[in-house]
Amino acid sequence: MTAEYLGMNYAVALSCGTAALHLCVKLAAERINPGAEPGNSLAGQRVFCSDMTFDASVNPVVYEGGETVFIDTETDTWNMDPEALEKAFKLYPDVKLVVLAHLYGVPAKMDEIVTICRKHGALIVEDAAEAMGARYDGSVVSGMCGSFGDFNAISFNGNKIVTGSSGGMFVTNNKDDADKVRKWSTQSREAAPWYQHEELGYNYRMSNIIAGIARGNILHIDEHIAQKKAIYERYREGLKDLPVVVNPFEDKAKLNYWLSCLLIDESAMCQQVRGEKEYLYVSEPGKSCPMEILDALSAFNVEGRPIWKPMHMQPMYRMNGFVTREGNGRGCTNAYINGGYVDVGADIFQRGLCLPSDNKMKSEEQDVIIDIIHRCFR
Ligand SMILES: *Cc1c(COP(=O)(O)O)cnc(C)c1O
Repeated sequence: MTAEYLGMNYAVALSCGTAALHLCVKLAAERINPGAEPGNSLAGQRVFCSDMTFDASVNPVVYEGGETVFIDTETDTWNMDPEALEKAFKLYPDVKLVVLAHLYGVPAKMDEIVTICRKHGALIVEDAAEAMGARYDGSVVSGMCGSFGDFNAISFNGNKIVTGSSGGMFVTNNKDDADKVRKWSTQSREAAPWYQHEELGYNYRMSNIIAGIARGNILHIDEHIAQKKAIYERYREGLKDLPVVVNPFEDKAKLNYWLSCLLIDESAMCQQVRGEKEYLYVSEPGKSCPMEILDALSAFNVEGRPIWKPMHMQPMYRMNGFVTREGNGRGCTNAYINGGYVDVGADIFQRGLCLPSDNKMKSEEQDVIIDIIHRCFR
């Protein structure tokens, strides 16, 4: 069902998107480094990764002993910046793997990214956890998100556009890869009358109950996308008089509108500082900031979220490589220079937030949210 929807030959049901990403990374490592040691199959290897994403995208690289090098974000789609990626290959020419996420259901710049990866002989793990149902019609590649990578993962987690309450899938056109993932996910059980094991396995398979829910839910994907799109458009319309923009995208992209976000114009930002776990802001007439808006929503028992905090700003990944379009390699982490952040990810994190986007939200409820946001700017 999923494979057919994505225009691919095989989809293997797994316990979660993270498990799918782990097995994607394992397959990639085997190809790059045949006979590598399981659990350490990326030993000594750097891997280029999306920076502004959920850490589930990139942790599997570490599960396999690899070293993540983060690639800054671009402003047109809030995904991996092809210019920064090209520069990263100059700095680290030996890299053979790229882990790319499509953020919030907005396709990344696949034409450019696929071209760069082909040129440098690098494989792509595509994290389409948030992007099932999103489409990209480029001049180099075209198709559904989850079909562009050498290895592809989607998620059926409770908050995704199609859900089984949890669950995920590995998606591929390669039968051997599909068979291998199926086997690894069931503790690498060999075809024998008893439990016979020749290699390291995992308990990553999807339960039958989750599969039932996901199969029921997937029938409604078009409806979910239509509802999410209506939510996005109501925000765009309702907030157009404010100094904010909603998530940007390219013409060749068709979103699944999974999550509506907004970005506050630099000139309309009140002062806001965030430490590791705490924050402060100074309210100012005519201005606001993400934490002020999130507090205002929360006072009405409405949940918004900050943008994914970039990986290069996370304590556990802070010392890893980080490549920006400008500057020479790992410059400053969220350093404020001449009134502007030197990296795009830190800037979007500073000025952006995720708006309530549940498809069960009523339009009257959304009107209240839009009104609360207006009051923050008064
Ligand atoms: C949700 C998500 C995942 C992980 O999926 P799970 O099914 O929760 O393990 C991975 N990457 C991104 C970008 C996600 O949003």
